Amino acid sequence: MKIKEFLEKDAKTRKEIVEKAFEEAEKIQEEYSPFITLNKFDGKIEEGKLKGIPVSFKDSICTKGIRTTAGSKILMNYVPPFDAHVVEKIKENGGKILGKTAMDEFGFGSFCINTFIIPKNAYDKERVSGGSSGGAATLTAKMSYPHIAIAESTGGSITTPASFNGVYGLTPTYGRVSRYGLIDYSNSLDKIGIMSKEIFGIALGLEIIAGKDPRDMTSANVPVASYSKIGKPNKKLKIGVIKNTEKYTRKEIFSEMMNKLQKNNDILEIHDVEMNTLDYALYSYYIIAMAEASTNLSKYCGLRYGLQKEIEGNYNEYFSKIRAEGFGDEAKRRIIIGTFVRMAGYKDKYYEKALKVRTLVINEFSEKFKDFDLLVLPSTPNIAPKFKEVERIEPIEAYKFDILTIPPNLAGLPHLTIPIGKLENMPIGMQAIANKFEEEKLISFGYIFEND
Ligand code: GLN
Repeated sequence: MKIKEFLEKDAKTRKEIVEKAFEEAEKIQEEYSPFITLNKFDGKIEEGKLKGIPVSFKDSICTKGIRTTAGSKILMNYVPPFDAHVVEKIKENGGKILGKTAMDEFGFGSFCINTFIIPKNAYDKERVSGGSSGGAATLTAKMSYPHIAIAESTGGSITTPASFNGVYGLTPTYGRVSRYGLIDYSNSLDKIGIMSKEIFGIALGLEIIAGKDPRDMTSANVPVASYSKIGKPNKKLKIGVIKNTEKYTRKEIFSEMMNKLQKNNDILEIHDVEMNTLDYALYSYYIIAMAEASTNLSKYCGLRYGLQKEIEGNYNEYFSKIRAEGFGDEAKRRIIIGTFVRMAGYKDKYYEKALKVRTLVINEFSEKFKDFDLLVLPSTPNIAPKFKEVERIEPIEAYKFDILTIPPNLAGLPHLTIPIGKLENMPIGMQAIANKFEEEKLISFGYIFEND
């Protein structure tokens, strides 16, 4: 059922639909495990823009009274006493919390396997859902009743899983949405965004969660377009296809993306562009993200935050025991690398250099947006891999899978992944990147493909 159709129903009918949606979520959980925590419907339907639409939240977003683990054993028993800004907004607008979705521990991963509940791909249970917001994507794809997923991206955690599961995923401009109540991965990169089966759901979700919040100094006061006005662009869009992404992408995906664009050349003016910083963005990202992550994780030592036990031995022994037990392998790897790259004696070689590269990436994008409305590239280099394939790959290979999603994330630019078809019966996606705060262009671009 389409969201618009739901919104037009009377309160009694909407309540019945919401009940069914919660039941459907339970069935999906049995087969695909998209949730860490599944909520119960309280039977109340409020008014507001969402009028009772079930909304799921990635488990790194704090929900008052509902366990929030960020996919980590170290937070296994954490029940926040407060709501994140986005949760407040969804509640104020009559959204119902459907549950908390599975994710790679603290957002560390591209396949949603670095955690204790591993969701399956909506199209093939032997394949990964994608990470880190894997649960959100599988759930969005499987729900037949109205649903919006609130997820988060640091370096591709919305685009990758959304694309692997054939749904829309919007990562807004850095600062568009308040991060208050988000369990940090990397503060200068984290962005809360939305997944939906429909462009309408993306626009509706964005309008609700965007805006200035005094509790997040980086949140911006820039108006968003109203979801009620979404439609095709009112003038031709000038598109730059980032041509040097072709060499990283499976050829059928790249050619399908070009076909889809060409089919709409009445409304799109298509050009090829090269992105010189593409190859370096990945390395810059992983240094910055890990450096920030390692400082963020230092608070989980079993005193104020994280798993707690009987204190034995001295404090160092106690902290080590808690951290050894509570963190998974990928979190430990990132603490070690992140600490190393910002250590005195190494920071100018790694961390500071990574910041300089980040500036170059930002500058290159700014130059491009003088000429183009949107930049377009494939969402992922390949379709969702099988579990048995990713079990074998080395961490560095897994990081390289993010080559296409890192650049807009590193630059804090809004981007949207759009499902464009199938390859070997698995969904494939195309990504569009816009200049800062130009989500509206992305939404109208997505609308073209949803309706073509
Ligand atoms: N795969 C990337 C990483 O592991 C991105 C994850 C994310 O956006 N949270 O850092």
